Amino acid sequence: MMTTESREPLHPAARELPPREGGLASYPPVERWGDWEEYDPIAWPEKVKRRYELIPTICFNCEAACGLLAYVDRTTLKIQKFEGNPLHPGSRGRNCAKGPATLNQVEDPERILYPLRRKGARGSGQWERVSWDEVLEDIAGRIRTALVEGRPKEVMYHLGRPGHELVYLQRVFHAWGIDGHNSHTNVCSASARAGYAFWHGMDRPSPDHANARFILLLSSHLETGHYFNPHAQRIIEAKQRGAKIAVIDSRLSNTASMADFWLAPWPGSEAALLLAMAHVLIREHRYDREFVRRWTNWEEYLREERPDLPVTFDAFHRAIDELYASYTPEFAAQESGVDADTVVQVARAIGDAGPALATHIWRNTAAGNLGGWQVARALEWLVVLVGAVATPGGTAPSAWNKAVPAPPMMPPPGKVWSELLMPMEYPLAFFEMSFLLPHFLREGRGKLAMYFTRVYNPVWTNPDGLSWIEMLTDEAKIERHACLTPVWSETAWFSDYVLPMGHASERHDLMSQETHAARWIGFRQPVLRVALERRGETFDLTWQAHEAAGLGQVWEEDELWIELSWRIDPDGALGIRKYFESPYRAGQKLRIEEVYRWIFENSVPGLPEAATKEGLTPLAYMRRYGAFLVEDNVYRTHEQAPPAKDLEGATVDPVTKVISKGGAAVGVEIDGRAH
Ligand code: SF4
Repeated sequence: MMTTESREPLHPAARELPPREGGLASYPPVERWGDWEEYDPIAWPEKVKRRYELIPTICFNCEAACGLLAYVDRTTLKIQKFEGNPLHPGSRGRNCAKGPATLNQVEDPERILYPLRRKGARGSGQWERVSWDEVLEDIAGRIRTALVEGRPKEVMYHLGRPGHELVYLQRVFHAWGIDGHNSHTNVCSASARAGYAFWHGMDRPSPDHANARFILLLSSHLETGHYFNPHAQRIIEAKQRGAKIAVIDSRLSNTASMADFWLAPWPGSEAALLLAMAHVLIREHRYDREFVRRWTNWEEYLREERPDLPVTFDAFHRAIDELYASYTPEFAAQESGVDADTVVQVARAIGDAGPALATHIWRNTAAGNLGGWQVARALEWLVVLVGAVATPGGTAPSAWNKAVPAPPMMPPPGKVWSELLMPMEYPLAFFEMSFLLPHFLREGRGKLAMYFTRVYNPVWTNPDGLSWIEMLTDEAKIERHACLTPVWSETAWFSDYVLPMGHASERHDLMSQETHAARWIGFRQPVLRVALERRGETFDLTWQAHEAAGLGQVWEEDELWIELSWRIDPDGALGIRKYFESPYRAGQKLRIEEVYRWIFENSVPGLPEAATKEGLTPLAYMRRYGAFLVEDNVYRTHEQAPPAKDLEGATVDPVTKVISKGGAAVGVEIDGRAH
């Protein structure tokens, strides 16, 4: 059993440590972001001064949502470079190489700057420039007709890299009354997500790497592990403070090469390793007995699985000891090729780390093997065994470390179920069966009147690209295909419209990710529009600012949805338009800045107060700083008592101890106390 000392995080004061010398201090001080001067490196050895305005935004090159600072030349109004935003709580001023490389995307000579419409047959490669007005009228007309004729399942939006949180997209689809969100998730992270969701209802882990004593990364080379830069910098901090790292990955990844333990199993045998580690923890009493007693449904387990045993925790220990008896290190060695001694060493290190065990799995073995979701379950079992759930240095369920502010007027979901997304014969599908879409259409299960793809290129990335070409070229199956993209792709080639959408510095999005034990928001914003508006220019829509800045007619999607919604429901008779009216100007079309103004004023705890202290509105605060820390050091969320109002009239299930109200779980009773 663990000692009292081992329950403490390795470095509980980690967050109080000052920045390392030469680290964050090298960033321009925030009070000078409005007029920052530095020498032009290209003019070297001459000392030529250039003056910049530093405007924060959010990187768009992976889901981590790191902060960027756009250096806008005050003379030319061109973006000279991107660097990190030191005020961003997740990335803390640091970026991977893809962050500053945003400039390459902005300046890509082959990027799409105007809406294009195909001229010949789909895929024939003939295009003509078309006005946005024509595009919007055609698309909105098709969607309106589909909705009016009771064909809401024929509108689908299929995305690769999402912009902001799904809730803001759902707002659009709920308002339209469609079940049309399709994603790439089932060829990516769905299995790992399923494993986590079956444990704790939230589909990702949030490791507190910086404070960990032991870090176990499962097939998670950092670059494929999702939050690459925010995680990497915290893993390095932990390592510098003495934490040990184990990587289970068949590949000698860069991450594995830096680990203290590299376990390279036969692909598909990872779960055997984890079960053997659980075996060691249980057999050697290296698990957190009190945590398991309080936070697992062991009584229910005994009643269902071991009615021969008394309902006592000692009996439960005996039951799991017997259950895991066959998963010995030798068994794991035979299955995986990793020697038994290494399995024991890692298991004991995990036991020693106790609640400071940070773990992560995403894609790879979970995605690449039949039943891969069980690997995520087995990994989380180790976290539970050592009581490392939401502890300093431990691993929290993702949603506890995210801030997702409510948007204005969230419509209820439409009462529609698209079997092109979730067919009935796949009841265990955890996300849309997106990779089967061409096959469903080929089988005659439906057609799409309007199909959007966004930064999604299945013709190239899905294994059966030719099936996608077959689908996309069949105008009876896909009646209209609009590809929302900043650049050309194989899938764009088979569309009716190629519609230019903005990069990281050319759009609004509200971001929050579980990068560490905190909750923050990051504000992606169209940098050139902000710069021009600071100079007194006004625009109705972001693309107009882009055109004024010489970029072209590059739109942002938030505005596309508002415009489409007004054209789909011009008189409000469909009940859609009201969700896209200004909360500040009754009956008027919602402006993009009003969306965020409302959210920042109403849905982000602490932001209005922080803004007031600086004499700013909440929106102006976010435009200036680009990020806000809603809550730091978020630990042991599960130990909090539910709000008293949730408990009024609630009932406790006598077997599971789940506290419910109105059919929804609001807490759980442990040792007579609500949590
Ligand atoms: S890790 Fe950060 S800087 Fe790198 S691509 Fe992702 S969001 Fe951008």
